[in-house]
Amino acid sequence: MTAFFRKPVAGIYCLLALLSALLFNSCGKQENPQAVEIHGKTMGTTFQVKYLPLPSDDDQRPEAIGGEINAALIAFNQLVSTYIKDSRISSFNQFADTTWFPVDSTFLHILEGAREINRLSGGAMDITVGPLVNLWGFGPGSPEQRHIPEAAAIAAAKANTGMEKLEIRHDPPAVRKQIPGLYIDLSSIAKGYGVDLVGRLLEKKGYANYLVEIGGEVRTRGVNERGVVWRLGISSPEISGGLQAVIALDNFSMATSGDYMNYFEENGVRYSHLIDPVAAKPISHNLASVTVLHPSCMMADGFATAINVLGPEQGMALAERENLPIMMIIREGEGFVEKMNDAFRLIREKTEESGN
Ligand code: FAD
Repeated sequence: MTAFFRKPVAGIYCLLALLSALLFNSCGKQENPQAVEIHGKTMGTTFQVKYLPLPSDDDQRPEAIGGEINAALIAFNQLVSTYIKDSRISSFNQFADTTWFPVDSTFLHILEGAREINRLSGGAMDITVGPLVNLWGFGPGSPEQRHIPEAAAIAAAKANTGMEKLEIRHDPPAVRKQIPGLYIDLSSIAKGYGVDLVGRLLEKKGYANYLVEIGGEVRTRGVNERGVVWRLGISSPEISGGLQAVIALDNFSMATSGDYMNYFEENGVRYSHLIDPVAAKPISHNLASVTVLHPSCMMADGFATAINVLGPEQGMALAERENLPIMMIIREGEGFVEKMNDAFRLIREKTEESGN
């Protein structure tokens, strides 16, 4: 069984293919029980979960697990979705005071991750760019609002950004704005946290062999129903198709960020949903997408955005400094070239050697 996630990159598809051993292991011998699959919608995209059941599981178990996963994701959206008017993050964004605003430890954990990536990326990943994201039409408003804003509006929105204007307190957990107009957007990192959240929920129930994917961000652990480590394929961006890279991941995560789906074109220029916080406008370099591997899906997600905003050279430099396995797909002329670092290449070569 193979599942594909389609993320059109520059009009072509960069398929994240989940490859069970079926493609590599024709014997098809059933070494483990059939994986349970749960599908659903969350955070404006889809999710899928595959896990190997426990011997003690009865027929009702999958439905119960599916119910718990859905409930956890609904509660998570209610915490960090700017698309829900009365979520905790929307209440903070609407809060026009500069006093402490109580939040929970999950909210703080995500902010700490975002602050760390902001620091390591020299400010490229900046969750306070929300006013600019919304101004350029990539926030909760309708896509029709996508337009090139007036310079004065850009300057006014930019004045309300800057991580230094967001204060974090641990005990009791709270956040504080230094300016009333501060607005945070966790879209670059919270989907990854959602994947980790579902992975932890499964592990707490004793499931040690699973794959969780939300909107293309993936975390795997253990083996699939054929007893081999989960294999993820990133296909070639060339129209001819094929696989660019296949990687086997166990207890690790993969996140991809690119100028796909979320963009608009005006006068032949593509405006991506990724905002350069300094220029206060969408990035304009030739990096089409970047895939990052990390033990935490939340950090993989945040780093993928940071590296994408930084572009090919500075993005690769960040990956090397932080020893992040990454693969870039870079536009070159009419086509694309891939660029991966040694850390990613090693994982890819180990996967090919294992050949299972
Ligand atoms: P990523 O690269 O992972 O993130 C890019 C996003 O981060 C941009 O869309 C922007 O919001 C923000 N961003 C842009 N530039 C920067 C920067 N320099 N630093 C930091 N952040 C930046 N979408 C819907 O259409 N409907 C929904 O109901 C909906 N609900 C959501 C609920 C939650 C909890 C979250 C986290 C997101 C939701 N989304 C929704 C948004 C959608 O799921 C994706 O998060 C969004 O498309 C970005 O994910 P990505 O992987 O495409 O890009």
